[in-house]
Amino acid sequence: MFKKILIANRGEIALRIQRACRELGVKSVVVYSEADRDAKYVKLADEAVCIGPAASAQSYLNMPAIISTAEVTDAEAIHPGYGFLAENADFAERVERSGFTFIGPTPASIRVMGDKVSAKQAMIKSGVPCVPGSEGALPDDPKEIIKAGRAVGYPVIIKASGGGGGRGMRVVHTEAALIHAVQTTRAEAGAAFGNSAVYMEKFLENPRHIEIQVLADEHKNAVWLGERDCSMQRRHQKIIEEAPAPGIPRRTIERIGERCAAACKRIGYRGAGTFEFLFENGEFFFIEMNTRVQVEHPVTELVTGIDIVQMQIRIAAGEKLPFTQRAIQMRGHALECRINAEDPYNFMPSPGRITMWHPPGGPGVRVDSHAYTNYFVPPNYDSMIGKIIVHGDTRDQALARMRIALSETVIEGILTNIPLHRELMVDAKFIEGGTSIHYLEGWLGRHKR
Ligand code: ADP
Repeated sequence: MFKKILIANRGEIALRIQRACRELGVKSVVVYSEADRDAKYVKLADEAVCIGPAASAQSYLNMPAIISTAEVTDAEAIHPGYGFLAENADFAERVERSGFTFIGPTPASIRVMGDKVSAKQAMIKSGVPCVPGSEGALPDDPKEIIKAGRAVGYPVIIKASGGGGGRGMRVVHTEAALIHAVQTTRAEAGAAFGNSAVYMEKFLENPRHIEIQVLADEHKNAVWLGERDCSMQRRHQKIIEEAPAPGIPRRTIERIGERCAAACKRIGYRGAGTFEFLFENGEFFFIEMNTRVQVEHPVTELVTGIDIVQMQIRIAAGEKLPFTQRAIQMRGHALECRINAEDPYNFMPSPGRITMWHPPGGPGVRVDSHAYTNYFVPPNYDSMIGKIIVHGDTRDQALARMRIALSETVIEGILTNIPLHRELMVDAKFIEGGTSIHYLEGWLGRHKR
């Protein structure tokens, strides 16, 4: 096991990784920007090093600053968390070339999966079902693009091969709008991701977002840890996640889970990862793979009892998976609400000082957050300030526990989306389960204020 790990991230995930290190008896070094000087995990860290000003480009995305901090603090491995450099193959490569362990997959795996066209091709070869669409990236010739549109059938969605975070996508309903949409998405993708390749998929009208968590070691073992339903989204951003996915027969889930684990073995995947699918009419369609820990990993931890972040670290240290597929059991039901510092109805960010922070507690309640009374939420980063996660024997019990947890939570000084979560937890359709990825946007349209 490593003696010391550098945490190259911020916010709740920096604290989460720090907790995993503590439990494993590993010392942690955190790097932070000037805006995060007062963060909880900075105060709790064995060592903390300021690596630059608030702007991410000069701090959390500053590869030389992060790697030289690992050098001067004698860290052996770097955990990238999610976002920032977590899926940057060049960073993973530089970390390894500098003699440190990157806690994640190989740079080659990150590269294949980071490009959605090559990821889909790898999945097709591994027998994982994908959304029907263009064969690889779209060509420049407008005639060929029109032909592809006819073959796929409208509506279609044009997606940037290098896209992420819900950006770089455009739905097209008619052939007349196709060429312009392709050109616009291309231009945006080139500017935003430095890669103007785009591809086409059938636009699924009413799917759910279901994803499979996997773990794979360097010794050719791979397992899947059940599924998560992340269909509650606004602008392609998840806000509520749960495990298991309500209403899908276990056999259907098992079939896709087994394929994901088999694909990991086939592509030589290492570490934690997530296969994301759209699920419609009883069928799964792969959309992308995330080669890192995800925000919503705790719901899987609560139903499986497996600590995913500790497993990432143990796998990076060369250990074998300590369990087989058969030993993995899902117990009960878990829900997660992402707490964002934003106006609950118009979604304007609401950074600033938290004057009162009262997290919930009680049976089956977990809060992952770096916030506290008097903490200043900086305006420079993502608005998520924490997550409330609950576990119950049944989905009904988990829902009841989430309602209680939300009712106990008091956050003052900034606005948060807790009022929205409170309303969604009593919404009849959500309680029924199985709503599609478009449900929340429709709900927001009907509940305008
Ligand atoms: P990103 O990497 O930006 O998150 P994804 O490919 O994972 O992009 O897609 C994000 C979201 O966009 C999905 O969860 C879904 O809501 C929507 N989406 C993507 N592809 C399709 C599709 N073919 N049909 C319908 N919705 C889609």
